[in-house]
Amino acid sequence: MAKRGDHRVKLGLVCTVCKNRNYVTTRNKINTEEKLLLKKFCKHCRKITEHKESEKLK
Ligand SMILES: [Zn+2]
Repeated sequence: MAKRGDHRVKLGLVCTVCKNRNYVTTRNKINTEEKLLLKKFCKHCRKITEHKESEKLK
């Protein structure tokens, strides 16, 4: 009983400055090949930093 949406993987978004995982997002691995790199607010750095995707979450 395969349902739609199985290609979406759950990922953490990690601050590239302090390495804290601040966000969780999903990505469609079929449509999106490249790694995500987003500018987001980091509460640890208390400024906007680049966040990259980390390991898959279970
Ligand atoms: Zn940070």
